Amino acid sequence: MKILVINSGSSSIKYQLFDMDKEIVMAKGGIQRIGIDNSFLKHETYEGKETRIDRDIPDHAAGIKLLIDVLLDEEYGVISDIDEIDAVGHRVLHGGEKFTESVIINDEVEKTIEEYCDLGPLHNPHNLTGIRVCKKLLPGKPQVAVFDTSFHTTMPPKAYLYALPYEYYEKYKVKRYGFHGTSHRYVSRRCAQLMNRPYEELKIISCHLGNGASIAAVANGKCVDTSMGLTPLEGLVMGTRCGDIDPAIIKFIMEKEGISIEEMDKIMNKKSGLLGISGISNDSRDVSEAAKNGNKRAQLALELFDYRVVKYIGAYVAAMGGVDAIVFTAGIGENQWETRENIIEQLGFLGIKLDKEANKVRGEEKEISTPDSTVKVFVIPTNEELMIARDTMALIS
Ligand code: AMP
Repeated sequence: MKILVINSGSSSIKYQLFDMDKEIVMAKGGIQRIGIDNSFLKHETYEGKETRIDRDIPDHAAGIKLLIDVLLDEEYGVISDIDEIDAVGHRVLHGGEKFTESVIINDEVEKTIEEYCDLGPLHNPHNLTGIRVCKKLLPGKPQVAVFDTSFHTTMPPKAYLYALPYEYYEKYKVKRYGFHGTSHRYVSRRCAQLMNRPYEELKIISCHLGNGASIAAVANGKCVDTSMGLTPLEGLVMGTRCGDIDPAIIKFIMEKEGISIEEMDKIMNKKSGLLGISGISNDSRDVSEAAKNGNKRAQLALELFDYRVVKYIGAYVAAMGGVDAIVFTAGIGENQWETRENIIEQLGFLGIKLDKEANKVRGEEKEISTPDSTVKVFVIPTNEELMIARDTMALIS
């Protein structure tokens, strides 16, 4: 069975074609700058053949048509007939309260995803465009939606409600939804496999540390709390997002600077976090480099980043009444060993011991705690696309 996984953004589309009989990626790639100048597609096959096509890609329909053409291409293609694609799995950001798991897309599902554009205005409309284009270009093929929020729908009200007047929850569904759910689900399940213990018996804290960053407490196979909220702005310090702040700061800065709510929103989402504190970059590699060269604000930015993760881990240990394993994933979690070392060292009081040599790993699945550590610590590269392909296969089988 062959499944195409699509992640459709505002001006980009990422794709992977899976052969699910062997669970391998036959080809993958991405399209960038859709509807902007200099748009291009980058494509790579499982044999390592690579190509880049620079061409005007005015919209998502042209982009998806082009990626299908490349999948069928004589030299760089991996299938000879479009009918070989059995189904398409779509990453969808917001599934609101309704979608507690992945679903086959029908008209009603499409309508609900559209309704949730309100909650995920930067993603859901583009996810929906991807779905609609695929329906047209691959008529009759099942389309499946896998939501970033679904994994978190098991949170209890005490974790998902904000202490605002209850009517805002009733009227507008203002609550903690959480994101990166497919990643947290993948790595926490994988963690249980690596521990050779039932997922349903473990308390796991999953740290997805990338440009966007979130953390989830997974107790007995269910998410019980997570750091992102109504939007992906809450929680950890991120590349350009501030994460948790006193909400009163918003009014204070707006008045002092004489700026609009839109400008303030942009400051919190695009100009804060590692970038805001360091003044250098949102990319942790640049910030680390500057910190090593003695830049004080870069050092401060990394300190804040790590400290926030430590605080959340502490909170989630308390929320779950213990922890069996901590997992690091995503760009920073998988690659920045210094960040992991600094975080785990601060948790030594829990009896967690890091194997410093094992921790020097980059982008590889590995246990990085010592055998006598009270809590196991793992690096597990995330694989949201595989999870989407698995869900898609399960639903159409
Ligand atoms: P993501 O959003 O998961 O793609 O993660 C992006 C973040 O991961 C950026 O801050 C990068 O600096 C960091 N990152 C990605 N790859 C590496 C690497 N090989 N070494 C160190 N940091 C990395």
